Amino acid sequence: MSDEKHKRCIVCGLVEPEDDAICIHCKAVIRGEAIEHRHQEKKDADRVLHKEGSGDIPKH
Ligand SMILES: [Zn+2]
Repeated sequence: MSDEKHKRCIVCGLVEPEDDAICIHCKAVIRGEAIEHRHQEKKDADRVLHKEGSGDIPKH
């Protein structure tokens, strides 16, 4: 029974992470920020793919 086994999140230092150095909550926050960035890119990509997939030729 050693406290060494109980690690604390290196980000918030409050929660015990399951098997990482960062707890799920902080992970979600970090991921959320990353996803937000990707979301915008994916949106644009989806738009392009949708245009091509629908068979409509984009006019420029
Ligand atoms: Zn945390």
